[in-house]
Amino acid sequence: MKPKIVRTVAALRRETRAWRSSKLTCAVVPTMGALHEGHLTLVREGLARADRCIATIFVNPKQFGASEDLSRYPRDEDADVRQLAKAGCNLIFAPPPEEMYGDGFSTTVSLEGPAKAGLEDRFRPQFFDGVATVVAKLFIQSGADYAMFGEKDYQQLMVVTRMARDLDIPIEVVGIPTVREEDGLAMSSRNRYLSPAERKHATAIYGALTLAAEKIRAGIDPQTATRSATLALTTQGFKVDYVTARNATTLAVPAVRGEPLRLIAAAWLGKTRLIDNIPV
Ligand code: AMP
Repeated sequence: MKPKIVRTVAALRRETRAWRSSKLTCAVVPTMGALHEGHLTLVREGLARADRCIATIFVNPKQFGASEDLSRYPRDEDADVRQLAKAGCNLIFAPPPEEMYGDGFSTTVSLEGPAKAGLEDRFRPQFFDGVATVVAKLFIQSGADYAMFGEKDYQQLMVVTRMARDLDIPIEVVGIPTVREEDGLAMSSRNRYLSPAERKHATAIYGALTLAAEKIRAGIDPQTATRSATLALTTQGFKVDYVTARNATTLAVPAVRGEPLRLIAAAWLGKTRLIDNIPV
């Protein structure tokens, strides 16, 4: 069945109020549209935990920098709705920007901790404040019991988890493992920007991370392992922003032996910026 689409906070609240009064739980999946199997997995996992699932589609202007791809960001609502219907999504919240940021909007969630780990924040300074502001709004607007996020955007997952806890928003943030193409490339709305040759090549990021994780597990120092991964990717024509091993929760530089680590990378292939990460 085609999910209902609502475009105002008032209409969203009418729907969720009806669910709550029937004692139905609900999960929310925040997205920027241009959906792929990764997003649909979040919807299915949401429905595995809750009675109802809301997908939100909002290309959030506050998380794009001046030089970034806001106007170029892929949008295809009809295709998104068809895919969400197939995944069993119950409701779509797709507000216009003025519904989210009305005249005189003046509030931003400002972050420290994992948001200042020197990863994405170093290259996109306004990004996480923009993400946290819109995500806090979506959590409050939807009143959902669960929020489904992909590990694909690992720093974002840690930031949003921390933010919900710090602001006492009564929602459980659930991280879902990255859904990959057959050759290992992490699915992303931005993969469609890759030329066929770049697309073939793009899996090298996952390859480099996998090799570095194996080395670390074999006892090689994380810095040495990530340095070789950077070198390998650079030699293959990537412009590497970072490949690094971090504490899996705080994203701080590892301090003690044996702490849980996450390998996290961002690199440009031509005009497309790719990110990926894996556990060690
Ligand atoms: P986006 O529309 O790119 O902002 O992503 C919306 C949500 O989908 C975020 O929680 C992402 O982490 C998640 N997501 C994107 N790609 C994947 C993937 N390949 N596997 C799992 N989750 C993903």
